[in-house]
Amino acid sequence: MTNKNLRILPAVHVILKINAIQELIPSLGQENVVAEIRHYLDELRSLLSKDSNQNLDTSPESIGIEVSNRLATHYKPKLRKVINATGIVLHTNLGRSPMAEEAAKAAYMAAAGYINLEVDIETGKRSSRQDSVREWICKLLKCESATVVNNCAAATIIVLKAVAENKEVIISRGQLIEIGGSFRLPEIMKVSKAIMKEVGSTNITRIKDYEAAIGANTGALLRVHTSNYKINGFTESVTIEELIALGKKHNIPVIDDAGSGAVVPLNCKGFGEEPNPVTSMALGADLTLFSGDKLLGGPQAGIIAGKKEWINKIESDPLMRAFRLDKMNLAALEQTLLLHLNSSTVSEKIPTLKMLSISMDELHEKALQLESKLKQIGCCDKIQAKISEGFAGGGTLPDQQMPTWVVDFSSPHLDTQALSHKLRTSQPSLFTRIKDDKIVLDLRTLNNDEIDTAVQVILNALKTI
Ligand SMILES: *Cc1c(COP(=O)(O)O)cnc(C)c1O
Repeated sequence: MTNKNLRILPAVHVILKINAIQELIPSLGQENVVAEIRHYLDELRSLLSKDSNQNLDTSPESIGIEVSNRLATHYKPKLRKVINATGIVLHTNLGRSPMAEEAAKAAYMAAAGYINLEVDIETGKRSSRQDSVREWICKLLKCESATVVNNCAAATIIVLKAVAENKEVIISRGQLIEIGGSFRLPEIMKVSKAIMKEVGSTNITRIKDYEAAIGANTGALLRVHTSNYKINGFTESVTIEELIALGKKHNIPVIDDAGSGAVVPLNCKGFGEEPNPVTSMALGADLTLFSGDKLLGGPQAGIIAGKKEWINKIESDPLMRAFRLDKMNLAALEQTLLLHLNSSTVSEKIPTLKMLSISMDELHEKALQLESKLKQIGCCDKIQAKISEGFAGGGTLPDQQMPTWVVDFSSPHLDTQALSHKLRTSQPSLFTRIKDDKIVLDLRTLNNDEIDTAVQVILNALKTI
C-alpha cells in the first residue's frame, strides 16, 4: 500500500516542466529550483509513509505551484526598504543615519566600478585611502590630522592601544558605559591592553580624583560621553576643559570619546549638551573620536582626529588593516564631510540633521495631511493628529524627549499588536510605535514622499482581513 502511494509522486523532471517553475529558473538557477523540488518531494514522501491514506494533492501542477511559492518566499532578500514612522531618527536597528543623496550616490559610484582608492591620480603612485577624507576632517574640526576606521568602537580600541598599551588610562566610574551590542568600556580596554584605572564614584568624580590617580605609568586621561544615559540628582563630573588642563599640566595625553559627533550646532532641544569634537580640538585634546552615522549623518565609520604624532602611530598599527573603512563608506563619508563644510546648507542637506531640526509647524502640516489621507481611505478608526513626545535615539540626546506631531489610529477589526505586525511585514515594511493601544505614526521620520506609500501600506493591510 505504502509503496504504491510513494510511486505516485511525480519525477523531478516532470515538475520542472510546470510553467510556474520554468519562470523561476532564469533568476534562481536550475540547481536551487531542483533542490527545493527534491526537498518538497521528501516532505510529501515522509507524510505519505506515516499515513498513506492522506488526502494530498500530488499532481505535478499542484507540487509546482507549492514549490514556486516556497521559492519566492525563500529567496526574497532579507534586507529591504523600511519606512520609519517610529520618530526615532537614529534607530540603530533600522540602519541609524540615512545618508544625504550626494553621499548615497558616491557610495553607488564606488560600488559599481573602479575608483582611485589608493592611488594618486597626478603621480600615479600609491597613496593612502585616508587621504580622501583626512583634509576634510581637518578643515571641519580644525585639527592637525585625522584618520577613519569602521566605527567608533574600533576607533576606541585602536586609539587606546596606540596611546596606552600596557599603561594606565584614568577614567571616571560614571563613564564606564555600555553601548548596545556588547560595547562595554572595561572590555574594550582589555582588548586594547590598556590598564583601566577607575576614579571617583558613579555619580561624583572631581578633578582632584584624576590628579591623585596620576602616576609613573599613566598613559592617558579618557573622557567618555555617557551617550545613552544620564545620571540625575546629586552629581558632579569633570568638564573636558578641566581634563585637558590637567593633562597639559602633567604632560599626559587626553582622549575624548565624543560618541555622537555633534559637529554642527543645531536648533534642537538638548543638542547643546552633546560634546562637540570641534570644541575638544580647540581646547587641545590629543585625540577625539566619534561615529560617522550618528549626528554627523553619514555612513558607519569611526572618525579619529587630533595630533599628528598619534594619528601616525594609529595608522601604523597592524589593527588598522583590520579596521580600515571600505571604498563605499569612504566615498559616502567624503561627501558627507563636504556637505558639512558648507555650514549654511548642512542642516538642510543631511537628512538626520534635517529631521532633528524640523519645526513643529512643519510637522503639524505633515500630520494634518496624513490624517486627512487616512480618513479618506476609510478603513481605520479614531484617526487623530496630535502632539506627542519622541526621542533622537542611537546613543544621542538620551533623556531628551522631543515634542513632535503624530497621527494615531486603530482598526475596527484587528487588534493593535496584530496590525503593527502586519504593517511591519508589508512591502515596503512600515515600522510604527504603539501607544494607548493605538498605532502611532510619527511625522518626524516620515518623509513627505513616504506619506502616500505609508497610507497605501495601511490600506492594503486592512483591506485584506
Ligand atoms: C555610539 C558610541 C560608541 C560606539 O560607536 P559605534 O560607531 O556604534 O561603534 C562609542 N562611544 C560612544 C560615547 C558612543 O556614543
